[in-house]
Amino acid sequence: MRILSRTVGAFQENAYLVVDDETGDAVIVDPGADPDDIIAMIESSGATLRAVWITHAHLDHIGAISAIRRRYAGVPVHVHPLDRPVYDAQSLFAESYQVPFEQPDAPDADLAHGDVMRVGNLSFDVIHLPGHSPGHVVFHGHGIVLGGDVLFAGSIGRTDLPMANPEHMQDSLRTIAALPPETVVYPGHGAATTIGAELNSNPFLNGIANVKRNAD
Ligand SMILES: [Zn+2]
Ligand SMILES: [Zn+2]
Repeated sequence: MRILSRTVGAFQENAYLVVDDETGDAVIVDPGADPDDIIAMIESSGATLRAVWITHAHLDHIGAISAIRRRYAGVPVHVHPLDRPVYDAQSLFAESYQVPFEQPDAPDADLAHGDVMRVGNLSFDVIHLPGHSPGHVVFHGHGIVLGGDVLFAGSIGRTDLPMANPEHMQDSLRTIAALPPETVVYPGHGAATTIGAELNSNPFLNGIANVKRNAD
């Protein structure tokens, strides 16, 4: 397995290409902006793009979908249905942020908690982790989690945005913090980290780490 990435757009979002080297199949997770850069990454990987997986539908994670679809016809876009209202509203937010944005057409397929998403011989579990957005999911497998905007190195995703929910975010942080500590987190923004490193140093997980200790 190879994980390639490009940091794109005004919000410095990480678009990840997950490649199964055995079969040459790949998926792109959160193609958020700068489609030429993302397409160049896909082309130089030598892999065949099979799908687009979206952790959540904020504009900085979906802005290159239309261009990807034009370049790779028939590649399906997967989004959790609870993020459809978010997905459909992003052109309005792009106007207010004054960032260039191409509103993508409707997604092709739903993601649901417990789904197993496959690319080549690789498989990833879909975990629904709402809070930053109602339909936020992460993709977990092979010792990694493609985490979107739930957990960052030293921080967490915002919960003051429209349709966010701070209480759901606390539950979601508890869930992601319970993954094995060696799990590598590839976040939507910033550098990769591990669950263990964040449990040790991320102030937003302090209460959660204490809860875990008390429960032991
Ligand atoms: Zn977001
Ligand atoms: Zn983001």
